Order: sequence, then C-alpha cells, then structure tokens
Amino acid sequence: MIPKLNITFIASEAAPLAKTGGLADVVGALPKALQKSGHQMTVILPFYRKELSKNNIRTSPLKVAVEMWADNQSHICPLHEATVNKVRFILVEHDGFFNREGLYGTGNHAYADNLLRFILFNRVALEAAAMLGNKVDIFHCHDWQTGFVPLLLQTQYQHQPNIAEAKTVFTIHNLAYQGVFSSEWIHRLGLPAHHFHQESFEFYDQINCMKAGIAASDMITTVSPTYAKEILTPEYGCHLEGFLQQYTHKLTGIVNGLDLDAWNPLTDTTINSKFGVGKVAGKAKCKKALQQQTGLKTDAKAPLLTLISRLAEQKGIDLLLANINTWLNRGYQLAVLGSGDASHEQALTDLAEANPTQMYFYRGFSEGLARQIYASGDIFLMPSRFEPCGLGQLIAMRYGNVPVVRATGGLKDTVVDYNQDKKQGTGFHFEDATAEAFDVAVEQAVAVYKKPATWSRIRNRALRRDSSWQASAKAYEDIYLGLMRD
Ligand code: ADP
Repeated sequence: MIPKLNITFIASEAAPLAKTGGLADVVGALPKALQKSGHQMTVILPFYRKELSKNNIRTSPLKVAVEMWADNQSHICPLHEATVNKVRFILVEHDGFFNREGLYGTGNHAYADNLLRFILFNRVALEAAAMLGNKVDIFHCHDWQTGFVPLLLQTQYQHQPNIAEAKTVFTIHNLAYQGVFSSEWIHRLGLPAHHFHQESFEFYDQINCMKAGIAASDMITTVSPTYAKEILTPEYGCHLEGFLQQYTHKLTGIVNGLDLDAWNPLTDTTINSKFGVGKVAGKAKCKKALQQQTGLKTDAKAPLLTLISRLAEQKGIDLLLANINTWLNRGYQLAVLGSGDASHEQALTDLAEANPTQMYFYRGFSEGLARQIYASGDIFLMPSRFEPCGLGQLIAMRYGNVPVVRATGGLKDTVVDYNQDKKQGTGFHFEDATAEAFDVAVEQAVAVYKKPATWSRIRNRALRRDSSWQASAKAYEDIYLGLMRD
C-alpha cells in the first residue's frame, strides 16, 4: 500500500485562480492529479483579490490572520479558503501587496517591492501551514517567488510544530527568472545572513531567490528531461550552470501534463463548434468562425498559422517577425495573441494593420480568445530560443493544431518530429534559432497540410496524444515517497 501523504504546494499563481503563464497551469492541475491518488493536497497562494473576482472564484474568510514583521512594519495577513476542482486553497491576503493590477508588475515593469511581497508570502505560508492543518510531509515550491521557503524552513522555522520535519521539493519552471535583488534587503527582511555566500543565495553580491531554493531543497525538479540537461550548460544555464552542476544528484526533469478536463475541444464551451478524435468537422467550423470574427478572408484552404505567447525574447518572436511578409506573400494566414515587449507589439500591430484580410493580432491576455485560436488553427508556432517545458504546444496538439517548434527543452520532449518519424510525428522540429530554419520547417508543414489525407493522420496523432498528468504525477509521487524514506 502506498502511504498517503500530506502535501502542500506553495506558489505564486494557479489556474483558474490567477494566471500569467504555464506555471499556473501546472500548479492548477498537478495537485488535482495527486489528490486522485489519495494524497491530501493543499495549495497556498496570495489572495489576488481582483483576479479571483474576475475569474469568479468563491472564497471564504478563515477568520484567522497571521501577523508578520517585515521591513520595519507589522503586516496583518488574514487567511482565506477556496475549494477549486476539489483541491483546498489557502489564500494569503495583503491588499497592499496582492490587490494590484498585475501579479508581478505592470507592462514590462516588475514591482520594486517584489522581494518584500514574496518573502512575506513565504513566511505567512509557512505559518499558515503550521497553524491550519495536520503535520506536513512535503512542501513543494515553485520558481523564485517561493525559493526562500526551503531555506527559511531550515533556518528559522525548524522548531515549528507540524512543519519542522517536512521535506522540500523545488521546481524550476523557468531558470531565466531568478528573483535577484539588492543585498540591503537581507536585514530589512530578516533573511538568514549567514547563508549569504556563494554556496547559497548570494549571487554577485546580490540576493538570488532561485539559488536559495536550489541549495536548500531536498530535491530539485525541472519541467522536462531535456531542460534538466540543458540548464547544466552555459547556453541555457543563465549563469547558474556551475552552481547547478553541484546538485545533479538531486536534480531531475519531469515533463508537464495538461488538465484534460480544462482543455478539451469536445466539451469546451468557449469555442464555436466542438470537435475531437473522429469528430473533426467542428474544427473547420471554428476556423471559419475565427476568420469571420477577426476579418480574415473566409478561406477553408488557406493554412492558418497561429501563435499564443508572451512576447518575450525567450519565445523567438523575432524569428516570427522576420518571416511574416514571406508567409503572407505565399498566401498563408496568421492569428497572433500575446503581449509583452513593446517593439514586438508594435511590429505585429503594424503588420496586421497592413494585411487585415491575412493577419490578425490581438494585444493582451485573453483565455477565451486563446481557446478559439487553439481550436481554429492549422499550424501552431513555437520558435522558442529556450523552452523549459511549454504548455502551448500541448494545448495546441489537444486542439488538433499541429505544432512547428524549435527542438529545445520540453518542445523536443513532447512533439515528435514528422520528418524523423513519419509514422508517429505529431509536429515539425527545427534546430537552429534562425528565421531561415524556422521558415524551412513551416514550409514543410504547409507542404504536408496541402495533402489532406497525410495531414489528417498527423493531426489525428496530435489530437490523440496522451498529455494527461497521469505519468508525470506518478513521477512526482515517486520523488515524494523517496524523500519520506530518506
Ligand atoms: P510560459 O509559461 O513561458 O509563458 P507556456 O507555454 O509554458 O509558456 O504556458 C503559456 C500558457 O499561457 C498557456 O496556457 C497559454 O495558452 C497561455 N497564454 C500565453 N499567452 C496568452 C495570452 N496572451 N492570452 C491567453 N493565454 C495566454
């Protein structure tokens, strides 16, 4: 009999409560999968009042608050509770910090007090876990925003009942965001100063939250096997490759799954017409509806290329921009959804305005439009320079939108290259991060698209791909159980 564990996730976002990217998809779905295996799951998140009400999340106050001293001030943080998809969420209220326009900042500007916000959150989360539940077996922390949890647990909460003996898992969802801040905060926030050295959270004389998590956790995971290897190299290691090499004994890569209930073209109420394996007619209706709704020429045959992404350097948007005119000249259509880098936003806006019947661009974040585009597209583009796992290509496959991806990180692990394996291919790879290599792969995809019988086979394999959490949740469970035996 597998022992049932008490597992607490601490994270800065989770779908459907509050989301800026793939981290939220994972923190929203993995606890649900683990709970199905019988474990007792709790997720602790900031109480993002605006987001929660926008997303219609029902919460109730717990009538307890944690008082915390930070930066020469007392902060009172009432706790709230919500049950979402049968999983229990504890939400840490601090309106000054978490009832803002963005989760981490606005536009491209991070909030200047992010370290204060998230250290306070880390501490209150530990206090809440000690106070509210049974003895915690595992704390599973995610990305820099919760990087200090394992270290604080070791150095300042090691005598707290219920949590002192908990093991810690730290997942790196994206090594490029490390949470680096001025060392003046050490004293202002009461961080464990004796750990401010190279082997812990010191980084070029600054605080590095990601390093704190890597050094102090019992186990480190990242979100795909290929990325777990890549981050040990100078190309992908973001200056931490040498540091990470010391921890390969506790580092492993587990590919992300998808919440198949949340992403299901057979039941999705936001798309124009439902479809799925063996019932693909609805997909053509979705394409037609999107073309009509966005002003694209109604043309069932034109290949509809799609991209839904943060417009960041990581995502290879420059490789897209370099190719758009060529593709439009070849008669392809393009629908793009995203926001981020202002120059990319402007370039996409200009191109869409100049070619209204062939290209559509929506600047912003819209879950509903994202679903419509996933459902309508023929080809989904992910030319990422690096990609720890990527959720976009998983959702695209689930919606029969065949991905063209750069062969890096999780993209390489989850999309089978048609050119390598014509019997099992679910998409197209390209190796070099160049506009030319990207164009070659897109041209190959379009050439196959023009052969309907072959295309239908590749699309069916994409539609049928098992992106469930089952295998990966089991891999996490094995890690937790291994730690409990240590
Ligand atoms: P990352 O986490 O690096 O942004 P992922 O591919 O792992 O990239 O996850 C991105 C998630 O965010 C996917 O669920 C994707 O559909 C969603 N997403 C990205 N941009 C937008 C947008 N502009 N509007 C709606 N959803 C978006």
